[in-house]
Amino acid sequence: MCDESGLVIMQNLEFSSMSLSDEMLQSIQKMGYTTATPIQSEVIPYLLQQENADLVALAQTGSGKTAAFGVPLLEKIDARQGQIQALVLAPTRELAAQIEDILGKLMKPLGMRSMTIYGGQSYTVQRSQLKKKPQVLIATPGRLVDLLNQNLLDLTGLKVLVLDEADRMLSMGFEEDLQTILSYTHSADGDHERASCQTWLFSATMAPGVKRILNRYLHKPKIVEQLSGNQGVSSTLKHHFVTVRNGYRKQALLRIVKSIDNFYGIIFCQTKKDVAEVEELLRGHDISCMSLHGDKQQREREHILKSLKAEKFSILIATDVAARGIDVKNLSHVIHYSLPIEIESYIHRSGRTGRNGEEGLVISIMEPSDFSKLNRLQRATKIQFTPYSLRKTEDVLKGIAKSELDQLSHFKSDSHIMRELKKICGELLTEQETNLFSTAEWIAALIHSKMRDHSIWRDDIYIQDFNPQSRPEGRDRRETGSRSGQKRRGPPSSFRRGGGGGGRRKPSKPSFKS
Ligand code: ADP
Ligand code: MG
Repeated sequence: MCDESGLVIMQNLEFSSMSLSDEMLQSIQKMGYTTATPIQSEVIPYLLQQENADLVALAQTGSGKTAAFGVPLLEKIDARQGQIQALVLAPTRELAAQIEDILGKLMKPLGMRSMTIYGGQSYTVQRSQLKKKPQVLIATPGRLVDLLNQNLLDLTGLKVLVLDEADRMLSMGFEEDLQTILSYTHSADGDHERASCQTWLFSATMAPGVKRILNRYLHKPKIVEQLSGNQGVSSTLKHHFVTVRNGYRKQALLRIVKSIDNFYGIIFCQTKKDVAEVEELLRGHDISCMSLHGDKQQREREHILKSLKAEKFSILIATDVAARGIDVKNLSHVIHYSLPIEIESYIHRSGRTGRNGEEGLVISIMEPSDFSKLNRLQRATKIQFTPYSLRKTEDVLKGIAKSELDQLSHFKSDSHIMRELKKICGELLTEQETNLFSTAEWIAALIHSKMRDHSIWRDDIYIQDFNPQSRPEGRDRRETGSRSGQKRRGPPSSFRRGGGGGGRRKPSKPSFKS
């Protein structure tokens, strides 16, 4: 429900006012929840009341969708029956593991068993877990299909099927797998499919492919849409951008990371190669960080996420595998090392910060070829993007100089090595050089020579006067064209799609779909 300004009207119910079992209320209390979030307030009472209802729930990132389906789902399960009664599908292993974590906590006093199924796990382990007759399955589509095809799963007792982040499942290429799974839970009835179970779909974003699934498999679903004006982006987020000339992304990233105290966040990259490069860059500057992408072993992926949640390190560099659903409390920043190709991806990546009403800062690093993407993104989401104020070079240098001077002051000038060095320097320096610099200048030169990459602190690599606009795309191009060859103010010629010069990262498919 939205007011005129597009803001979701908060109607937060107390969990105790919902018709929940005592055991469920206990678990909810143990998790520290007292008041339901708006999506939970709207969805839980409805699903509890309905014996058989399909549902589409769209709500912004970090709004508590997991418990919104988890609570009613568990309330519908009969713990005495050792049969699979609920199936939750999620696009990534990380999200599946996280859903199991929340459902696990909720079901603790209910005497139920759950199991997570994803690729990379041993079949033997999965077979033996299945023998324990779990009532709740949480799965990524690929491995689930394998098990179904091997006749290892019996879904005939299924009461609830949840598709979490369905649009991501489709964009990851799981459509066929999803259809296969749905063929086990639904049967053809004219143009539609009838299900023996309720089907609930949850996401912060929708895609045309999902509507196809929805039209075919969901029966007169109730649609609950709690997307504020910003299309699923939490309103507690601030969105900034930094524009650099071609080839200076790394310098901008370093400057941003180095000048934010207590940075705790995720840097999202488009490719594994970018992830590796950024990791090497930060480590080369003694910034501790870890990285996550699809090529890493599952155990390592889990370990990295656990360590991030435990604040054992504070900077994660990741591809979109970490963009969906991952819930790490209190992340302060999300940086888009480059803008993603799809709007949904921007929304979900950004939604890793500013969760559950917290504040969060999102910074996108842009080269001129990204200008049109940002314009389209602003038009489609109505997000207000503002330039990020980089900390002044002068201030950052002050910090560096001070810490270097502190270190210098620890040297004892009467030590043997210092005496030797002083003698050698005295012999090496010509009289002219000795007279040339003051002590301060010599120290400054020393610090300067120790700093690894001076271009980090250069101000002339930034383009100051780009402002995202909501003009039609055609005008973007024409304007850019007319400026080509001129002194670079605003979008330079590399901004033109298909144009020869400059733009390093051109999207291979049409970028932002509006
Ligand atoms: P979404 O799926 O909408 O992105 P999550 O289900 O991951 O959001 O929840 C986001 C965070 O909010 C989690 O840390 C979760 O534990 C917390 N949370 C969910 N519901 C409540 C509630 N009613 N009260 C307090 N915290 C909550
Ligand atoms: Mg979620």
